[in-house]
Amino acid sequence: MGFADRYVHALNATNLKDDERHGQAEPLMASAFAAAATGDLGPLLHRVKFADALSRKAFEGNPANLAQLLRLWIAEVTKRGRARHWVPENTAWDADAAQKLYRQVAEHSLAYWLDGKCEPCGGTGLDEKRACKCCSGTGKAELSMAAGFVREHTLNMVSELHNIADSHAARAASRLRSVR
Ligand SMILES: [Zn+2]
Repeated sequence: MGFADRYVHALNATNLKDDERHGQAEPLMASAFAAAATGDLGPLLHRVKFADALSRKAFEGNPANLAQLLRLWIAEVTKRGRARHWVPENTAWDADAAQKLYRQVAEHSLAYWLDGKCEPCGGTGLDEKRACKCCSGTGKAELSMAAGFVREHTLNMVSELHNIADSHAARAASRLRSVR
């Protein structure tokens, strides 16, 4: 896996705070971040996922952007995990373990969503015009970093990341149509 995966996993609480202070984003990205801070992650996710290769590289190459996106996503996963009662949070120990779980699921799912391509075929699913053997033609990498409970929630959150980005794209497209 590439930069995003490695970087997301290398992040820790301390440099999240530092990056927040030093964060700089281009204007479009800044407005997407502003929307995300109010709870609508759609514009930001859509922009990261479907931006052209160059601006995506710029986004992923900027640690502050990824740190900010991860911070927002951890908050969102925490909200969803709590609402769905993934784990009990009755005691301090429970709450601590729950916090760790939300964070892990957020890190894994964001990294995989950003960068979950099969490496040998580069996500095309093809190997010399045949289905890639490594991914059986899906173009997706094996979700190897998480197992069991964490893996299950991670896969759910990956598909929710897709949903958030896609439904924003659909909303934006219908707004465009109604303007014409
Ligand atoms: Zn492949």
